[in-house]
Amino acid sequence: MFDFLKRKRNQPVVYKRSEHCISRKNIDPDALKVLYRLADAGYTAYLVGGGVRDLLMGRKPKDFDVGTSAKPNEVKRVFRNCFLIGRRFRLAHVRFGEKVIETATFRRNSQSVGEIIEHASEGPFEDNTFGTPETDAYRRDFTVNGLFYDIRDFSVIDWVGGMKDIEKRVIRAIGNPDIRFQEDPVRMMRAVKFSSRLGFRIERKTFAAIKRRHSCILTAAPPRVCEEVFRFFPYGHSAEAFKLAWETGLLGDLLPDLSKAIDKSGGKSSMAWKYLRVLDELEKLRESEGIEVSNGLRAAVLMTVMLRSGGGNAKEGVSRKVMQTMLSGINIPKATYFTAVLLMESPVRLGRSPERGHARFIYNKDFLDALDYNRIVLRAEGRDERFVNEWADFYELKGNKDELVQDRR
Ligand code: ATP
Ligand code: MG
Repeated sequence: MFDFLKRKRNQPVVYKRSEHCISRKNIDPDALKVLYRLADAGYTAYLVGGGVRDLLMGRKPKDFDVGTSAKPNEVKRVFRNCFLIGRRFRLAHVRFGEKVIETATFRRNSQSVGEIIEHASEGPFEDNTFGTPETDAYRRDFTVNGLFYDIRDFSVIDWVGGMKDIEKRVIRAIGNPDIRFQEDPVRMMRAVKFSSRLGFRIERKTFAAIKRRHSCILTAAPPRVCEEVFRFFPYGHSAEAFKLAWETGLLGDLLPDLSKAIDKSGGKSSMAWKYLRVLDELEKLRESEGIEVSNGLRAAVLMTVMLRSGGGNAKEGVSRKVMQTMLSGINIPKATYFTAVLLMESPVRLGRSPERGHARFIYNKDFLDALDYNRIVLRAEGRDERFVNEWADFYELKGNKDELVQDRR
């Protein structure tokens, strides 16, 4: 007679306080408040996602998200400063002045995150998307993003092997990468973004799945795709990100003209990377100043790369129509186009001394972006930056005299 097989429940690996480097002093005090208040009310409350990853890597997190066993209405009962958003899957925003601590009930993967966002405004709110800490870890995209920090005992809870992957510096899809990318193709772009930003390699099977599935990206919601393209830029790793997107084939779907221009101009040794590397220097500088580079400037540099490495001439600027066709794969907002077109035309004005005409250009709201754009192009091409320096001096002089203030924040 056969006995029933014994089974063990799936258990997470728990790293005690002494086994990891996360210290409460590096966690936002308002996020701590949310965690403590939920725990005191008897709920499970974890710091989740990118915040835990960044703390473990010694980086400063951009935001602190909380995962909890409390249902949205229960979160609302605990915090007076709490607002529920979304219909299909309700999220609690706990507000502290301008700051928002996003607090989400543990959920499961009955529906992909991508679909939840795309259909956020339709359909009735479904309660069956709620889950447990375990299901909430498995529905996340990459192992390094699937870790929890438990406020009760300051341990890190790891269902998905994220801790080892942070040590190994690897981006690995949770579960079968082909299925996860089919569920939500934007995850492929996220893999590229995290790999370039964190300096991690993409694990072999995850990489192979992107190479196989990249064209699925064309089925994703255009605004999400556009947003992810622009997320290649912050922190100054766009050269690596675009190179990876080109190598995996993603770029061929997103920006076919750029991908072809890179092929044509020497692939890995294309001049395209030079422009992006100079832009990356600027991104790093602006980051340290707490200023975000505008998407108009980023789009203008991308377009210039496309035209110059494709053998074209961007010296006289580019019409909005041409630009719209070349960037049609990523559906850029109109205002971004307008700025980009203006910047690409600006060498006509900035290519000579300010004293010799066009001096009023300093009053244009995009003047500082135009200065940056011209410097990037000249530096990437190893050309003389004299006129840009003259314009910068002229601007400073005039600015002080006329109290000309251009607030870029
Ligand atoms: P960043 O530093 O850019 O904010 P992040 O890891 O915090 O990086 P977010 O886009 O803010 O990324 O998402 C927060 C968390 O939500 C992620 O860490 C991940 O666990 C989960 N997540 C986000 N997007 C997806 C997705 N498309 N599929 C599965 N999980 C996702
Ligand atoms: Mg985040």
